[in-house]
Amino acid sequence: MADKYDAIVIGAGPGGMTAALYATRANLNVLVLDRGPYGGQMNNTDAIDNYPGFTEIKGPELSQKMYDTLMKFEPDYKYGNVQSVELDGDEKVVKTDDDKEYRAPILIIATGSDHRHLNVPGEEEYSGRGVSYCAVCDAAFFKDEDVVVIGGGDSAIEEGIYLSQLAKSVTVVHRRDKLRAQPTLQKRAFANKKMKFVWNAQTEEILGDGTRVTGIKYRDKETGAEKEIKAAGVFIYVGVLPQTKPFENLGILNEQGWIPTNEHMETKAPGIFALGDVREKDLRQIANAVGEGSVAGQAAYNYYQDLKD
Ligand code: NAP
Repeated sequence: MADKYDAIVIGAGPGGMTAALYATRANLNVLVLDRGPYGGQMNNTDAIDNYPGFTEIKGPELSQKMYDTLMKFEPDYKYGNVQSVELDGDEKVVKTDDDKEYRAPILIIATGSDHRHLNVPGEEEYSGRGVSYCAVCDAAFFKDEDVVVIGGGDSAIEEGIYLSQLAKSVTVVHRRDKLRAQPTLQKRAFANKKMKFVWNAQTEEILGDGTRVTGIKYRDKETGAEKEIKAAGVFIYVGVLPQTKPFENLGILNEQGWIPTNEHMETKAPGIFALGDVREKDLRQIANAVGEGSVAGQAAYNYYQDLKD
């Protein structure tokens, strides 16, 4: 027997929690499912300095505050690793990997994004043995060591700055001669004495001694020369991929797997909303995930009223 709700929110990052808050506050019977701790990517972020209301706050602390705010309105909150969603008339049938089934006329997708792999030799072999995708999780293993960060976006630079607090040196290896990261982050990174930059460098291999990472091999795109950098750790931040596998059969994804919506966070499928990092958009921030969550929660309420009429 499936448990029935008015709305099911998949993903308890900042956007999903806000959508659930608005929908519950509008008196819908809401289930929130997440396969990990609430907070999503905020848990992997050390200091957040661009979320209004807090001059600076630790990611896990902001996660806890958002969760506490949400739980004041008493939605049902459960562990759930969603495997598939099927349509049964107006109802969306959500199935999880522990063989649970949940039904609701409204589905709100807030599953976010996951890190992209570089797909070079050595990356998989040394994953967890020097190769990492989470500085906040793994920085402590590299105290007083030389580390490399690959990428030039907000994540690479923010995490590089974080790593510099513990590591001996942080070398940012970027494939162009300009960073993509926000100017404020760039300014902090360029002023950081422990950070070095290698430009126009295409990483070709993660090197190791069979047990642990020893460095990287890259090609200098200007001269074509192959070069090496010695490092005990390699942190890879080369972009993000949508977490949308369970929704592939719903006809709501674009070619790259992101979910396009209109301004009400409605997808192509009636009663299915999407918001936050999983949505097709340019800017992925906590602030806009929260804003989109409020829009989705209210739109879900409006949809529910129309269904009842
Ligand atoms: P991103 O903005 O897509 O940047 C990815 C970086 O990796 C780019 O510099 C890109 O180079 C490089 N790259 C991509 N593929 C590569 C490859 N095969 N080899 C080498 N380099 C490669 O990803 P992100 O930094 O993870 O950020 C994801 C989203 O979260 C963004 O919207 C970002 O603004 C947001 N975010 C915000 C904050 C914040 O506000 N504090 C913090 C973290 C993330 P090119 O520049 O040449 O394309």
